[in-house]
This record gives sequence, C-alpha cells and structure tokens, in this order.
Amino acid sequence: LLTSVRRPAPPGQQHQAPSYRPGEPKPVSACFAVLARNGDWRALRESMRQLEDRFNRRFNYPYVFLNDEPFTDEFINMTRSMTQADVHYGQIPAKHWSYPPWIDRDRAAARRAQMHEQGVMYGGSESYRHMCRFESGLFFRHPLLQQFDYYWRLEPGVEYLCDINYDPFQYMKDRRIKYGWTIAIYELMDTIPTLWDSVRRFIAAHPESVPEHNALWWVSRDNGTTYNGCHFWSNFEIADLSFYRGPEYTKFFDFLDREGGFFYERWGDAPVHSIAAALFLQKEEVHWFRDIGYLHPGWQHCPEGDAWLAGRCTCDPNDSNKSITRQPWGKCSREWALLPDTPPEHRRA
Ligand code: GDP
Ligand code: MN
Repeated sequence: LLTSVRRPAPPGQQHQAPSYRPGEPKPVSACFAVLARNGDWRALRESMRQLEDRFNRRFNYPYVFLNDEPFTDEFINMTRSMTQADVHYGQIPAKHWSYPPWIDRDRAAARRAQMHEQGVMYGGSESYRHMCRFESGLFFRHPLLQQFDYYWRLEPGVEYLCDINYDPFQYMKDRRIKYGWTIAIYELMDTIPTLWDSVRRFIAAHPESVPEHNALWWVSRDNGTTYNGCHFWSNFEIADLSFYRGPEYTKFFDFLDREGGFFYERWGDAPVHSIAAALFLQKEEVHWFRDIGYLHPGWQHCPEGDAWLAGRCTCDPNDSNKSITRQPWGKCSREWALLPDTPPEHRRA
C-alpha cells in the first residue's frame, strides 16, 4: 500500500524573505567578519558551507577575512570558492596585534607560565591573548570594516543547524537592536581574576555610560559588587558596529587595555563585549536569537517548537550533552529570559 501525504510548507517557508544578489547593495550595510589563520581554511569551508546553505545563498552578504599574517593563495582560493558573495581579505596592522608600550613583557611572560602551570585553558598562549585583545577592541577599526554598519562573526568549525529564513541584520536594524547572541555561558574565572575590579573603577569614573533598565542584573546579582561570569559566547555575535565605535565602548576598551589584563591575565573578548552590552545597553537593545541553531565545538543552541520545524533543524534540542539551555553551565542563557522588559516609556530613542 502506498500512501502519499501532502503537507503544507513549514511555517517559516510560507513567506520567503527577499533575496539579494552578490555585489548588489543591501538594505543593511553588513558583512561577515572572520578572523582566521591560513591553516584554518578547511574548518572554515565547513562553517561557510552551512552558513551559505542555511542563509547566505539567498542574501549574499559579503565576507571580510582578517589575519595577523598575509593570507596565502590557498586560503583565498579555498574560501572564496565557497560563496558567490563578495569577499575581502586583509592583514591586521602590527599595532593591533602586539604589546602596547605600557605592558611589561617579562611580567606577561611570567604570568603566562604561571597560568599554564595552573592548567588554565590557553593560559600559556601568547597568540590567544593578542587574538582576544584584537577581538575585544580593535577588529572594528580595521579599514576593511569601515564601510559596514553591522557585522556577524564567523569562526572556523562552527555549524548552522537550522535554516535562517529572514535577514537578522534587517531584523536588528528595524528594532534598533545593537547586539545579538545565541549562546550564553559562565566564564572560566581564572582567566579574569581582576576584570570586574577594573569594570567597577570604570563605572565609578563614567557613571553616565550606564543607562537605567540595562542588563546589570544578568551579570551581577549583588548590584555590581561581584561578576557572576555570565557572558554571551562571542564566537557567534551580530552587532551594530556603532555600539563598538561609540564613545562608551571606546573609552571602556581603552581603559581595560591600560589595565593590562589582556596580557597579565587572559581576558576574553566574550566577557568584555558582554559586560559592555549588559551595562551600556538597555535590555531591548540586546537580542537572544533563540531561533538560530548554532554549534561551536563544545555547545550548541537548538531552537524548539515552531522555529525548529520552520528551520528544518538537524539538531536535537533535548540533547542534554550539547544543548546549552539543558546544561547547568547554560543557566546564563535561561536566566536572560527572567530579565524584566524595559517599560516602553523608559526606552531610549
Ligand atoms: P576558542 O573558540 O576560544 O577555542 O578559540 P579559536 O581557536 O576558535 O580562536 C578564535 C578565533 O580566532 C577563530 O576565528 C580563530 O581562527 C582565530 N584565531 C585564533 N588564534 C589566531 C591567531 O593566532 N591568528 C589568527 N589570524 N587568527 C586566530
Ligand atoms: Mn572557536
């Protein structure tokens, strides 16, 4: 017996968002930004295949690839062949990938050795620290990014687990969202022992940077005394670059850079971005893209319900080994939903 069943299209496919051609100006000036080493091309092809298939083959947003070394022809050929969209390749200026003059390099080396001994993840790595500092405060100053208003960070070896049937850049622009994320977790506190002390000193000196109805509660349950370690996992992030280029964030990064923790400790760009977003933005300016299925080795976010169906997701939201919302370590993600909404009359214009 043969049964043929006609089903309606999944909800998200009934309304196909507009598509844009490569090179055509987009309604939002936006790009993917990829920091990578030459040896990362194979893992990057995996990331690009999924991102293109799930989203960008219809939207054709351009890519910007950045590296502290010159890109090889192999890297360029192996990545540009994964997309029809425009691609740009740039080298990072040495000044953005080296020690500022006020850093004591011997002290930094001694601290790396010590953190390596303690078994801190990447504790002994010098390049990882340059990477974190660059991603914290410098990537958006690169000449290739100047033409863009929004960016979406992409890393080698990540997976997009569901179709994205709309344009997240447009979604953010329409709602004046400054920062978008999919996974939030706790930080390894050994990497940031004095970060919060520095943050407190910054806030004391710049109270005007901190609006009412921000997400302070999400990062500090004692009204700013201690940091609970919650942060957005910045290997995925979509941001309005005016947030990073604006005066609050610029002052904040420059202050942290002077403090030396990128080198004497191992401050990550994820807590730095996240603390800034939680303090300097109102809750409504930060958006959890719960409908974007995403995996970075270690954890995934898998949408549930209608979003799962509409997105033709290939992940299992109930997989408690991988799904961050099912994990104690992912309490930060779940707790975001507990933050009260900003009353409309208190929202910034
Ligand atoms: P993790 O996600 O914290 O484990 O760190 P990754 O190894 O994924 O590095 C984060 C991002 O920075 C990835 O996009 C890497 O390709 C990139 N990256 C890390 N170290 C370097 C480096 O020394 N040079 C360059 N050009 N990119 C790097
Ligand atoms: Mn990574």
